[in-house]
Amino acid sequence: MTPPTTILIATKNRGKLREVQDILAGLPVVLTTLDQFPDLPDAVEDADSFEGNAERKAMHYARLTGLWTLADDSGLEVDKLGGAPGVYSARYAGRQGDDAANNDKLIAQLAGVPPKQRTARFRCAVALAGPEGILATACGTFEGLIVDDPRGSNGFGYDPHFFVPELGMTAAQLPPERKNRISHRAQALAAILPDIQRLLGTETGSHRRDRT
Ligand code: IMP
Repeated sequence: MTPPTTILIATKNRGKLREVQDILAGLPVVLTTLDQFPDLPDAVEDADSFEGNAERKAMHYARLTGLWTLADDSGLEVDKLGGAPGVYSARYAGRQGDDAANNDKLIAQLAGVPPKQRTARFRCAVALAGPEGILATACGTFEGLIVDDPRGSNGFGYDPHFFVPELGMTAAQLPPERKNRISHRAQALAAILPDIQRLLGTETGSHRRDRT
């Protein structure tokens, strides 16, 4: 098979796009974005797992554009809440993307739960699809504890309430470059990189597939 010359990064989020571009920089491929395809309908993200949603998104845009496509899906899993908000992270409190309401609901749900039992993780799945379907998927996680009092003003979503014990700060207190190096997205992208390198014929040796 001839290696593709272009890969579509299926995200409209500028921050995520920069992260993907950083990690894939240097590969002999043009990275294009959904900005180049403003009329495409959004993918339906109704799977019950991050992997399922990332695959749906990647297949949807690969089919519509004919391009190899890399898509992601992510969210927060809280152990004491049975993994919620999970795939509903962006609309936990009802309205899509209402971070303040989502955080208020999260803290209310955890009322009375002692600090040590507030274990949680951000999880990200990435999927790479081509003309014949899914070539690869990979996952990454970022572990922490949910705290009542928000701290920090970087990041987005649940970051101000997501405390990382090893670093002694919340994800919202981390400088963005630092978060982008260790985040669930960075881990997932690093895990799928060997598959992309194989697709492009630029692999350098053996790699682990999944860093979770
Ligand atoms: P998306 O569908 O991957 O864009 O993310 C779904 C939701 O998960 C976001 O709206 C956030 O609420 C949450 N989320 C995912 N990644 C992060 C993160 O790195 N920090 C904070 N919240 C996140």
